[in-house]
Amino acid sequence: MTWIFSILIFAALVFSVTAFIFWRQSKKKQKRISNLELQHFDVTTELHEQRTLFETIFHHTNIGIALLEPGGRVIRANNSLGELLGYTETDMLAMNFYYLIHPNDQNSLQLNIQDLIDKKIKLYQSEQQCFRKNGDAIWIMTSICLIHDSEELPIQFIVQVQNITAQKQAEERLRHMAYHDPLTGLANRNKLEQSLNHIVAAARRHQQGFALLFLDLDRLKNINDTIGHDAGDLLLQIIAERLRNTVRTTDMVARLGGDEFVLLINDVKKTESVAQIAQKILDNVLQVITIKGKELYITTSIGISIYPYDGQTIQALMKNADLALYRAKEHGRNNYQFYTVEMTSKAQEKLGLQNTLAQALVKNEFTLNYQPKMEIATRRITGIEALLRWKNKDYGLIMPDEIINLAEETGLIIPVSKWVLKTACHQLKKWHEMGFSALTVAINCSARQFKQGSFVDEILQVLSETGISSSSIEIEITESTIMQDPENTIRVLYELKDLGVQIAIDDFGTGYWSLSNLRRLSVDKIKIDKTFIHQVTADETSAAIVRAMIAMVNKLGIRSIAEGVETQEQFNFLANEGCTEIQGYYLTQPLAEELMTTFLQHPVPDAEAISKNEIVS
Ligand code: C2E
Ligand code: CA
Ligand code: CA
Repeated sequence: MTWIFSILIFAALVFSVTAFIFWRQSKKKQKRISNLELQHFDVTTELHEQRTLFETIFHHTNIGIALLEPGGRVIRANNSLGELLGYTETDMLAMNFYYLIHPNDQNSLQLNIQDLIDKKIKLYQSEQQCFRKNGDAIWIMTSICLIHDSEELPIQFIVQVQNITAQKQAEERLRHMAYHDPLTGLANRNKLEQSLNHIVAAARRHQQGFALLFLDLDRLKNINDTIGHDAGDLLLQIIAERLRNTVRTTDMVARLGGDEFVLLINDVKKTESVAQIAQKILDNVLQVITIKGKELYITTSIGISIYPYDGQTIQALMKNADLALYRAKEHGRNNYQFYTVEMTSKAQEKLGLQNTLAQALVKNEFTLNYQPKMEIATRRITGIEALLRWKNKDYGLIMPDEIINLAEETGLIIPVSKWVLKTACHQLKKWHEMGFSALTVAINCSARQFKQGSFVDEILQVLSETGISSSSIEIEITESTIMQDPENTIRVLYELKDLGVQIAIDDFGTGYWSLSNLRRLSVDKIKIDKTFIHQVTADETSAAIVRAMIAMVNKLGIRSIAEGVETQEQFNFLANEGCTEIQGYYLTQPLAEELMTTFLQHPVPDAEAISKNEIVS
């Protein structure tokens, strides 16, 4: 019994110990678990706090921040970025950040993004312009870096953006102040010198001319003394505005101080155009100025130097413009002078001629002379070319080359050409009515007529006025005229062809128009330039060229006309080579209307007899 009791006690003891050990272990485990739970709780809290802190910093920093996918789509954006660009956060999430950047900065942005991806740079920082939601462009400073995953693959860009518009505007104001005259807002001496350096370099590179105009207001001091300096300042501002309005925005007007102004005129091709600007300035300055109820008149003197003729360096050009200005003052002020005296008189003469030309139409000073063309095979007069003449009491007889040049420059070419077309067609109608019903009239055309857009309408109008058929009109156009604006000119030529008007290529051989174009356009006639014809009997090369031209033109089914034919030998050569028609002094010089009528009434085959007619130019 005792041993059983002992065993029981022992068992109870073992059980108790085991239970105690289990209890202890479970207690420990429980403690560990709650410790772990406690730790986990701590970590979560800390994470939460950190996240809150991050969110607070992310959204409250002054800097706009965004996370982008490598393609630029916004994954996250903070409030500052939204405010800066005028978007909500949700708006931003649907957007591509790159599209916000100004097109001018796109190229460099993309190149640098690629450099970040290629790990050539770690950070890209740049000033650029970007667009706000309302379309305004603002200046921003952008910093972009790229974060990679554990396998070094690019995951996201971190973009930081600061608005630097105010800073940029302040810089711009400072720069403006450094380069502009505070009274008039015009460029100052610094800016002028800077621009002159650029323009001299560019003019050398592109072989372009430019002009420097020195202006000095005449007797500004008197005005200051009589009406006061405030009024004098106002006057300078008005003059500055007038000068600015006289030139193109690409030219420059500067004030060097006091009453001294300088104009820099770019891309000068002709001195007359500079003379024209100078004259416009004189006229504009002279307009009445009303200050404090007083009417004031002021004049200016202008000295002009032209690159490269009057100097190759800024110093030389400035010095020479100043000398020219001195001469303008000596000439009694209110005038302009070029550095060289010859240039002044040439430019002024041309300007005078242009002004007189402007009156010529109204004063009925234009006339037409007519020169016939003869078909070699039949010795028949097929057509008559109208050639412009201008007779003026001061300038005498002026030939068309000069008229056309002047008229092209002033835009007068349009009304003058319209007059030629109308007069020639009405004259042709008279000849038709006199029985010369197969005659055609050839009209020379200039490039401006094709640009203007109403040429076809003008032809339609004259056709309906006169009742002549469209095939009685020939349009003569040179290769170089076509080449000035091929697309537009060819379009108009097609329209003319559709109307039934005939097309002749004038001065053929002197330009570079392609032969395939001749075929495409189905040109009716080709006039071989007179420089080749003059040489045919003297020079074997010219003879070979003309021979080849005639053969080619005939082969294309186009009529070949030799112009400038003067001698029997030339005529024989051309007849031998199968040329279709001739024109030139061999038949007659261009004649006035009545003499042309007499010419038409004569039997034609005796060309030599005809050529001895009285000649009127
Ligand atoms: P063009 O169309 O080549 O006209 C032929 C020119 O050569 C005319 O000069 C004519 O007088 C001259 N000529 C004719 N036969 C001979 C000859 O046998 N020998 C020599 N040496 N010359 C001859 P013109 O009248 O002085 O006209 C010159 C150019 O002016 C014309 O060359 C034409 O391009 C242009 N032109 C004339 N009238 C007008 C017009 O009304 N409008 C336009 N846009 N241009 C015109
Ligand atoms: Ca012609
Ligand atoms: Ca010609």
